[in-house]
Amino acid sequence: MIKNTKENADRIAEEGRIERESKTNALQLKLREIIQKDDYTKINKYGEGMCWGCMRIDQVISSLWDACGKCIAKRGAEGIMAKTKTKPTEELCDFCGSWEGGRKGGRTGNFVSQINISMCRTCQERVHSLHKQYQQGGGREALSPYYRYLVKKHGKEWKDILMDGITTRRF
Ligand SMILES: [Zn+2]
Ligand SMILES: [Zn+2]
Repeated sequence: MIKNTKENADRIAEEGRIERESKTNALQLKLREIIQKDDYTKINKYGEGMCWGCMRIDQVISSLWDACGKCIAKRGAEGIMAKTKTKPTEELCDFCGSWEGGRKGGRTGNFVSQINISMCRTCQERVHSLHKQYQQGGGREALSPYYRYLVKKHGKEWKDILMDGITTRRF
């Protein structure tokens, strides 16, 4: 029989609080574990679901893609299983095909994030062909607005200038 004293009441309240917290922590750990598994597994699920690209129900595969803030806002964040990172550099958005982000999100404050989402085969192929065009067009060095700006400013020597800038820099 527990005596109804303030000390006992406090102790029971404290035990209850610790128990609740440990349950919450266990649940959070479990969720974090699931999300982290998603982060490091490029393709992990295949089945019927909503395609994040075209918003239709189809056979979908979940994997990692790059999306800019505008495209995320347009499609909604509900279908995103994990946002693994927001990129500090200028990146090609896999959905609108434009270069966005960069320092402070570029001129428009529109960052590109790597997200884990499900997409149908048609949408995956659409992004793959965008990547192919991008590679054939010369990749980042030829297509990124930042690199194009460097070429325009420094001519063909832009690489040497950029490298010199790094190697001769004193710390
Ligand atoms: Zn689709
Ligand atoms: Zn976009």
